[in-house]
Amino acid sequence: MKNIYNYILNLIFPKKCINCGKEGSHFCEDCLSLIELNKINYCACANNPRKNCSRCENCPSNIFAVFTVFNEKQKLVQKLLFKSKTIPDLNLYFSYLIITYIKIMTNLNLNENFSIFYKDKEVKNIAKMLSKFTKLKISDQKENILFLTKKYPCESVDLKNKKVYIISLFREIL
Ligand SMILES: [Zn+2]
Ligand SMILES: [Zn+2]
Repeated sequence: MKNIYNYILNLIFPKKCINCGKEGSHFCEDCLSLIELNKINYCACANNPRKNCSRCENCPSNIFAVFTVFNEKQKLVQKLLFKSKTIPDLNLYFSYLIITYIKIMTNLNLNENFSIFYKDKEVKNIAKMLSKFTKLKISDQKENILFLTKKYPCESVDLKNKKVYIISLFREIL
């Protein structure tokens, strides 16, 4: 029933790309290909983090790396994030981009010893979608935690005695 409803809805209100307006999807392949993944990473120190270093001697002991997925200066990512608040389907693209990032930019092997965790409600829907595609549970009980956040440094991560890998959409350098 839901499919028929969606089909009819799509006939009356065809999905349009939020960026270029092309019909067929909420975000078209051409526009998706314009999103650049971030290549510069800093250690987990909140103040004066070291560039291109995953851990320094001052980093919180349980945080193994902070991976920043996007460059917030890229307007298109901001637009996608803003629109995802009213079009939840767009969170699919965030989970796709995060998975691509993890595959290309990190050597993490997402196995059953990983779970996804978050505190920031703003990334709740992205976390859910990420959980669906990676088949990793949303929990803080596994040995390795992918801690999703909108922007690192964020509210306290805690999770002592875990290996925490921060997946941050953006990074603020203080
Ligand atoms: Zn487009
Ligand atoms: Zn550090």
